[in-house]
Amino acid sequence: MTRRLFWEDMYAREFDAKVESVDGLRVVLDQTAFNPRGGGLVSDLGTLEGTRVSEVVKEGEEIFHLLEEPPAFGPGSVVHGALDWDRRFRIMRMHTSAHILSAVVNRETGALITGNQISPDQSRVDFNLDDFDKGRIASYIDKVNDAVGRGLEVRTYFMKREEALSNPGFVKLANAMPPSVEMLRIVQIGDVDTQADGGVHVKNTNEIGKVVAVKTENKGKSNRRLYFTVE
Ligand SMILES: [Zn+2]
Repeated sequence: MTRRLFWEDMYAREFDAKVESVDGLRVVLDQTAFNPRGGGLVSDLGTLEGTRVSEVVKEGEEIFHLLEEPPAFGPGSVVHGALDWDRRFRIMRMHTSAHILSAVVNRETGALITGNQISPDQSRVDFNLDDFDKGRIASYIDKVNDAVGRGLEVRTYFMKREEALSNPGFVKLANAMPPSVEMLRIVQIGDVDTQADGGVHVKNTNEIGKVVAVKTENKGKSNRRLYFTVE
Protein backbone atom coordinates (compact mmCIF):
# COMPACT_ATOMS: atom_id res chain seq x y z
CA MET A 1 0.00 0.00 0.00
CA THR A 2 1.26 3.47 -0.89
CA ARG A 3 2.47 5.37 2.19
CA ARG A 4 0.24 8.39 2.62
CA LEU A 5 2.59 11.32 3.21
CA PHE A 6 -0.45 13.65 3.01
CA TRP A 7 -1.65 12.14 6.30
CA GLU A 8 1.73 12.38 8.04
CA ASP A 9 2.34 15.98 6.95
CA MET A 10 -0.52 17.80 5.24
CA TYR A 11 1.93 20.63 4.44
CA ALA A 12 4.35 18.45 2.43
CA ARG A 13 4.57 20.13 -1.00
CA GLU A 14 7.43 18.12 -2.49
CA PHE A 15 8.65 14.59 -1.97
CA ASP A 16 10.77 11.81 -3.48
CA ALA A 17 9.33 8.37 -4.07
CA LYS A 18 10.17 5.06 -5.68
CA VAL A 19 8.07 4.01 -8.68
CA GLU A 20 6.27 0.74 -7.96
CA SER A 21 4.54 0.33 -11.33
CA VAL A 22 3.80 2.15 -14.59
CA ASP A 23 0.82 1.11 -16.71
CA GLY A 24 0.48 3.50 -19.65
CA LEU A 25 -0.24 6.84 -17.98
CA ARG A 26 -0.97 5.31 -14.55
CA VAL A 27 1.81 5.41 -11.97
CA VAL A 28 1.90 3.82 -8.50
CA LEU A 29 4.51 5.09 -6.02
CA ASP A 30 5.77 3.65 -2.72
CA GLN A 31 4.75 6.95 -1.06
CA THR A 32 2.94 10.10 -2.12
CA ALA A 33 1.94 13.58 -0.94
CA PHE A 34 -0.80 13.74 -3.62
CA ASN A 35 -4.21 13.45 -1.98
CA PRO A 36 -6.44 11.39 -4.31
CA ARG A 37 -9.99 12.35 -5.31
CA GLY A 38 -12.47 11.13 -2.71
CA GLY A 39 -14.67 12.07 0.22
CA GLY A 40 -16.00 15.00 -1.85
CA LEU A 41 -12.50 16.45 -2.42
CA VAL A 42 -11.10 16.96 -5.90
CA SER A 43 -7.65 15.43 -6.38
CA ASP A 44 -4.36 17.25 -6.01
CA LEU A 45 -2.52 18.27 -9.17
CA GLY A 46 1.15 18.93 -9.81
CA THR A 47 4.09 17.15 -11.44
CA LEU A 48 6.01 13.88 -11.17
CA GLU A 49 9.58 14.28 -12.39
CA GLY A 50 8.39 17.32 -14.38
CA THR A 51 5.45 15.53 -16.07
CA ARG A 52 1.99 16.97 -15.32
CA VAL A 53 -0.31 14.93 -13.09
CA SER A 54 -3.86 15.31 -14.44
CA GLU A 55 -5.63 13.47 -11.62
CA VAL A 56 -4.94 11.18 -8.67
CA VAL A 57 -7.47 8.44 -7.91
CA LYS A 58 -7.91 5.72 -5.33
CA GLU A 59 -9.00 2.22 -6.29
CA GLY A 60 -9.44 0.08 -3.22
CA GLU A 61 -6.53 1.20 -1.05
CA GLU A 62 -4.21 1.74 -4.04
CA ILE A 63 -3.37 5.26 -5.27
CA PHE A 64 -2.89 5.91 -9.00
CA HIS A 65 -1.26 9.06 -10.40
CA LEU A 66 -2.61 9.74 -13.91
CA LEU A 67 -0.08 11.56 -16.08
CA GLU A 68 -0.77 13.81 -19.08
CA GLU A 69 1.87 12.03 -21.16
CA PRO A 70 3.75 8.71 -20.91
CA PRO A 71 6.52 8.99 -18.32
CA ALA A 72 10.24 8.77 -19.14
CA PHE A 73 10.73 6.74 -15.94
CA GLY A 74 9.86 3.15 -15.09
CA PRO A 75 9.49 0.83 -12.10
CA GLY A 76 12.34 1.19 -9.62
CA SER A 77 13.13 4.79 -10.58
CA VAL A 78 13.23 7.42 -7.87
CA VAL A 79 11.08 10.40 -8.88
CA HIS A 80 10.44 13.87 -7.51
CA GLY A 81 6.85 14.93 -6.92
CA ALA A 82 5.69 18.53 -6.58
CA LEU A 83 2.16 19.61 -5.69
CA ASP A 84 0.34 22.59 -7.13
CA TRP A 85 0.44 24.11 -3.65
CA ASP A 86 -1.82 27.15 -4.15
CA ARG A 87 -4.58 24.81 -5.25
CA ARG A 88 -3.97 22.30 -2.44
CA PHE A 89 -3.87 24.96 0.27
CA ARG A 90 -7.23 26.33 -0.91
CA ILE A 91 -8.66 22.80 -0.84
CA MET A 92 -7.43 22.45 2.77
CA ARG A 93 -9.04 25.77 3.78
CA MET A 94 -12.28 24.88 1.97
CA HIS A 95 -12.43 21.40 3.49
CA THR A 96 -11.97 22.50 7.10
CA SER A 97 -14.58 25.23 6.44
CA ALA A 98 -17.02 22.61 5.12
CA HIS A 99 -16.68 20.58 8.32
CA ILE A 100 -17.35 23.65 10.47
CA LEU A 101 -20.29 24.70 8.27
CA SER A 102 -21.81 21.22 8.43
CA ALA A 103 -21.38 21.12 12.21
CA VAL A 104 -22.99 24.56 12.66
CA VAL A 105 -25.98 23.79 10.41
CA ASN A 106 -26.42 20.39 12.04
CA ARG A 107 -26.31 21.94 15.52
CA GLU A 108 -28.74 24.74 14.61
CA THR A 109 -31.24 22.71 12.58
CA GLY A 110 -30.56 19.00 13.07
CA ALA A 111 -30.09 18.77 9.28
CA LEU A 112 -27.96 15.95 7.95
CA ILE A 113 -25.32 16.40 5.27
CA THR A 114 -26.31 14.54 2.11
CA GLY A 115 -23.33 15.44 -0.07
CA ASN A 116 -20.41 17.78 -0.59
CA GLN A 117 -17.92 18.86 -3.22
CA ILE A 118 -14.69 20.56 -2.16
CA SER A 119 -12.92 22.45 -4.96
CA PRO A 120 -10.30 25.21 -4.84
CA ASP A 121 -12.50 28.00 -6.21
CA GLN A 122 -15.95 27.19 -4.88
CA SER A 123 -17.29 24.38 -2.70
CA ARG A 124 -20.74 23.16 -1.78
CA VAL A 125 -22.51 21.25 0.95
CA ASP A 126 -25.96 19.66 0.60
CA PHE A 127 -28.30 19.57 3.60
CA ASN A 128 -31.49 17.64 4.18
CA LEU A 129 -33.47 20.72 5.19
CA ASP A 130 -36.82 22.38 4.39
CA ASP A 131 -36.18 25.95 5.46
CA PHE A 132 -33.01 27.69 4.28
CA ASP A 133 -33.77 31.37 3.79
CA LYS A 134 -31.18 34.13 3.31
CA GLY A 135 -31.36 35.42 6.90
CA ARG A 136 -30.73 31.97 8.31
CA ILE A 137 -27.81 31.33 5.97
CA ALA A 138 -26.20 34.63 6.99
CA SER A 139 -26.50 33.67 10.67
CA TYR A 140 -24.96 30.23 10.04
CA ILE A 141 -22.06 31.79 8.12
CA ASP A 142 -21.54 34.27 10.99
CA LYS A 143 -21.32 31.36 13.42
CA VAL A 144 -18.88 29.58 11.09
CA ASN A 145 -16.65 32.67 11.00
CA ASP A 146 -16.89 33.01 14.79
CA ALA A 147 -15.51 29.47 15.09
CA VAL A 148 -12.86 30.12 12.40
CA GLY A 149 -11.77 33.30 14.21
CA ARG A 150 -11.26 31.44 17.50
CA GLY A 151 -8.10 29.88 16.01
CA LEU A 152 -9.14 26.29 16.69
CA GLU A 153 -6.50 23.61 16.44
CA VAL A 154 -7.20 20.80 13.96
CA ARG A 155 -5.97 17.44 15.24
CA THR A 156 -5.77 14.18 13.30
CA TYR A 157 -5.29 10.77 14.86
CA PHE A 158 -6.08 7.12 14.26
CA MET A 159 -8.58 5.07 16.18
CA LYS A 160 -9.58 1.42 16.07
CA ARG A 161 -12.65 0.95 13.90
CA GLU A 162 -14.76 -0.60 16.71
CA GLU A 163 -13.84 2.22 19.08
CA ALA A 164 -14.78 4.89 16.53
CA LEU A 165 -18.05 3.12 15.70
CA SER A 166 -19.02 3.12 19.37
CA ASN A 167 -19.01 6.94 19.34
CA PRO A 168 -22.39 8.11 17.99
CA GLY A 169 -20.85 11.21 16.37
CA PHE A 170 -18.56 9.15 14.13
CA VAL A 171 -20.94 6.34 13.19
CA LYS A 172 -22.69 7.77 10.13
CA LEU A 173 -19.53 8.48 8.17
CA ALA A 174 -17.54 5.59 9.59
CA ASN A 175 -20.07 3.13 8.16
CA ALA A 176 -19.28 4.45 4.71
CA MET A 177 -15.63 3.44 5.03
CA PRO A 178 -14.51 0.19 3.42
CA PRO A 179 -14.76 -2.74 5.87
CA SER A 180 -11.12 -3.66 5.20
CA VAL A 181 -9.92 -0.57 7.09
CA GLU A 182 -9.12 -1.47 10.71
CA MET A 183 -7.90 1.92 11.83
CA LEU A 184 -10.01 4.98 11.06
CA ARG A 185 -8.49 8.42 10.76
CA ILE A 186 -10.24 10.96 12.94
CA VAL A 187 -10.19 14.72 12.33
CA GLN A 188 -11.04 16.94 15.28
CA ILE A 189 -11.59 20.68 14.84
CA GLY A 190 -11.35 22.19 18.33
CA ASP A 191 -14.65 21.66 20.16
CA VAL A 192 -16.71 22.14 16.96
CA ASP A 193 -16.48 18.90 15.01
CA THR A 194 -15.00 15.40 15.22
CA GLN A 195 -15.37 12.97 12.33
CA ALA A 196 -13.84 9.96 10.65
CA ASP A 197 -12.27 11.57 7.59
CA GLY A 198 -9.54 10.85 5.05
CA GLY A 199 -9.04 14.32 3.60
CA VAL A 200 -6.56 17.17 4.00
CA HIS A 201 -7.16 20.07 6.41
CA VAL A 202 -5.40 23.16 7.74
CA LYS A 203 -3.66 22.86 11.14
CA ASN A 204 -5.44 25.82 12.63
CA THR A 205 -8.71 27.49 11.61
CA ASN A 206 -7.02 30.92 11.55
CA GLU A 207 -5.46 29.82 8.22
CA ILE A 208 -8.93 29.72 6.65
CA GLY A 209 -9.43 33.49 6.61
CA LYS A 210 -13.10 34.25 6.00
CA VAL A 211 -15.91 31.95 4.83
CA VAL A 212 -18.35 33.57 2.39
CA ALA A 213 -21.70 32.20 1.15
CA VAL A 214 -21.99 32.34 -2.66
CA LYS A 215 -25.49 31.05 -3.41
CA THR A 216 -28.06 28.39 -2.57
CA GLU A 217 -30.01 25.99 -4.75
CA ASN A 218 -32.94 23.69 -4.13
CA LYS A 219 -32.05 20.16 -5.10
CA GLY A 220 -35.29 18.26 -4.67
CA LYS A 221 -38.04 18.65 -2.10
CA SER A 222 -35.99 18.96 1.07
CA ASN A 223 -32.44 19.06 -0.21
CA ARG A 224 -30.67 22.44 0.02
CA ARG A 225 -27.33 23.11 -1.60
CA LEU A 226 -25.10 25.89 -0.23
CA TYR A 227 -22.15 27.14 -2.27
CA PHE A 228 -19.36 28.91 -0.41
CA THR A 229 -15.82 30.10 -0.82
CA VAL A 230 -12.94 31.33 1.36
CA GLU A 231 -11.30 34.75 1.20
ZN1 LIG B 1 -14.14 15.84 5.31
